[in-house]
Amino acid sequence: MATTAAEFIQQSLDDPETFWAEQARRIDWHKPFDRVCDTSNPPFVQWFPGGLTNLCHNAVDRHAATHPDRAALVWVSTEVDQELTWTTSQLLQEVMTMAAALQELGVRQGDRVLLYMPMIPEATFAMLACARLGAIHSVVFGGFASTSLAARIDDARPAVIVSADAGSRGGKVIAYKPLLDEAIALASHEPAHVLMVDRGLAPAAVVEGRDVAWSTLRARHAHASVPCAWVDATHTSYTLYTSGTTGKPKGVQRDTGGYAVALAASIPTIFDGHPGETWFCTSDIGWVVGHSYIVYGPLIAGMTTLMVEGLPIQGFGGQPDGGIWWRLVEKYKVSVMFSSPTAIRVLKKQDPALLKRHDLSSLRGLFLAGEPLDAPTAEWIRDGIGKPVIDNYWQTESGWPILTLLNGVEPAKTRLGSPGKAVFGYRALLLDEHTGEELTGANQKGVLALGYPLPPGCMQTVWGDDERFVQTYWHSIPGRQVYSTFDWAVRDEDGYFFILGRTDDVINCAGHRLGTREIEESISGHPAIAEVAVVGVADALKGQVAMAFAVPRDAARVATPELARALEAEVMKRVDETLGAVARPARVRFVSGLPKTRSGKLLRRTIQAICEGRDPGDLTTLDDPAALAHIRGAADAA
Ligand code: ATP
Ligand code: MG
Repeated sequence: MATTAAEFIQQSLDDPETFWAEQARRIDWHKPFDRVCDTSNPPFVQWFPGGLTNLCHNAVDRHAATHPDRAALVWVSTEVDQELTWTTSQLLQEVMTMAAALQELGVRQGDRVLLYMPMIPEATFAMLACARLGAIHSVVFGGFASTSLAARIDDARPAVIVSADAGSRGGKVIAYKPLLDEAIALASHEPAHVLMVDRGLAPAAVVEGRDVAWSTLRARHAHASVPCAWVDATHTSYTLYTSGTTGKPKGVQRDTGGYAVALAASIPTIFDGHPGETWFCTSDIGWVVGHSYIVYGPLIAGMTTLMVEGLPIQGFGGQPDGGIWWRLVEKYKVSVMFSSPTAIRVLKKQDPALLKRHDLSSLRGLFLAGEPLDAPTAEWIRDGIGKPVIDNYWQTESGWPILTLLNGVEPAKTRLGSPGKAVFGYRALLLDEHTGEELTGANQKGVLALGYPLPPGCMQTVWGDDERFVQTYWHSIPGRQVYSTFDWAVRDEDGYFFILGRTDDVINCAGHRLGTREIEESISGHPAIAEVAVVGVADALKGQVAMAFAVPRDAARVATPELARALEAEVMKRVDETLGAVARPARVRFVSGLPKTRSGKLLRRTIQAICEGRDPGDLTTLDDPAALAHIRGAADAA
């Protein structure tokens, strides 16, 4: 084993075969693989072909065999005031029961099963049960609108859909069944069965012959024993859509063996997570972070995973509690926590004293991913909880971090505002997007790209559309067959990357090229600002000008037009001082919320379209339509 992070990473690039063969020993194989890597058909790659394994076996069975009484899953819901724990052996039984239920409904290896579920334990059981049977799961964010759900039903063509009567958010019940029924009516594909978990939250109409109650099948198969299907490492484990921040979401298809190995390797080396410890990821199972780091990653690594249904600012009994997460860290002795910058910005509007009220001695680090982590937010949470805060950059497509620090190999040397460097297995390149030329100098701006082959765990292809995979990801940079991340970045003299925004978020202002991120970072450093979105808006004179939409930490700061103008002037002054007048936004508008995707990403393209008076396009991934109305109002006033 290498001693430094740099050596570890170098090994993975110098001799990937040996490196990954070594990492592959972290999981169980029913039959050893024939080869580590098959690169005979670029840009496709097959990892560990010929090897037989199973995700569920690695996540559940093997731990149930050695540590039957260890807690595997803890579920806490502040929505319905419940706290439950499953040991590895109890989890195994639940998963086998679910697998038997799916089998009874006709699910076979290779069939798709679509999950449209809230954050309840049955969602985890269902994912693992699919993996157990070699069925392909396709999780759709619970509560997604029926039109987006219908499109996903038609794309996945599931044999069975697993759903629930309702989800709950901030105490508000959202009935899922009517949305699901509507989606099935809209879709041209019809599932043979719908397996319904009844939480007793909302009445749900039953379609005779099609809908089946989980409670009935659960009782029937309570002691079922269902063996794992040994599948090839290259067998598709799931499909999942990207967040839809930049346009129509892409259906990512993932393998089995490479994914298991990448996750198993990432937990100790990146996150410093170890068997028997508790892991808390605040994400949603509808997103890749939930797949990799609520369900599969921590379980494969033999950790206890804490799954939470509820808002970060709500406690039990419907009481507001901005310290609920830290309360849970204390209670369950969480060692590793994983969240997102968006969630931390929500906490930023709360009293910082809440961060200090609980005993966080078990916690070693907080990892954040999903959006640029601006330095002021990173500092705020780091100082608030007194723990290392580590940014990690990745995508639905990659399945696990691309850029971050190997905290478990060598204590992280974080650099504020940067997720760090490429981790093992990734050949990260910074390229000129027009010429394809590699930028090797310090502080040059370019597109972040990845060389062939992508490491284990990354997407196999676009589900049902190999051509789209090749065209979208591998042909976007002229003259080079590299994988484009569509993110714009800069690398400093020590090799640390800084993500500047999406390639289509670059603002061209009077000949200067600026990433929206740079301006947002500057504005969010103002103590009165909780959150901000910057977009480029077409301007007859300058080509483009920057427009900023900011959420104040305290609404009183913008209570009157005079106050708002004063704060706007302060914010502009700050941008002048930190970036120069070229970056100064034409206007800073104050709003109470920003439009985001269900996975919490700023929908800058939508804001930009509204500002330019264009049709905002595909809004199916939009979380809260009210936020859009605020932007409309503010943009009209501008
Ligand atoms: P779509 O591809 O459908 O437009 P999306 O790119 O938002 O949506 P995801 O796969 O959920 O879908 O998000 C990955 C993207 O999120 C990255 O490409 C990057 O733009 C952004 N991102 C993730 N983590 C970070 C981070 N730590 N710092 C900066 N940006 C990040
Ligand atoms: Mg993307």
